[in-house]
Amino acid sequence: VLRHAEGHLSPTQIFDRARRTLPGLTQPTVYRTLEFLASTGMAWKTNLATGHLVYELAGRKHGHLVCRECGDQIEIEPKVLDAAYRRLESISGYSLDQRHINFSGLCPKCRKRRNTRGGNHAL
Ligand SMILES: [Zn+2]
Ligand SMILES: [Zn+2]
Repeated sequence: VLRHAEGHLSPTQIFDRARRTLPGLTQPTVYRTLEFLASTGMAWKTNLATGHLVYELAGRKHGHLVCRECGDQIEIEPKVLDAAYRRLESISGYSLDQRHINFSGLCPKCRKRRNTRGGNHAL
């Protein structure tokens, strides 16, 4: 299911898809399997918003910008991250193995909502 996914999937989505080919599958089995895949590094587990866990197959280098207010997220292209990884490696001497990274913040919509609500920081 992860291999055929076009991005991140929640455990419920994974369960629904896997059940089509494995009718006897139970939800705890799916959770245990996902935890196992994450612990071995075969899958990446991401907290896109509070309490909203998603999984994907490990390997494709990318990152996410995640809104801490509404949970909206956009993907960061590898080439944007590459420059940051290279810079960090050159200033620290570290060899970085992180291929998946999340930045949290406020999305444009939530920023706008805040600004209009408060009135002081109107654009
Ligand atoms: Zn991801
Ligand atoms: Zn937002």
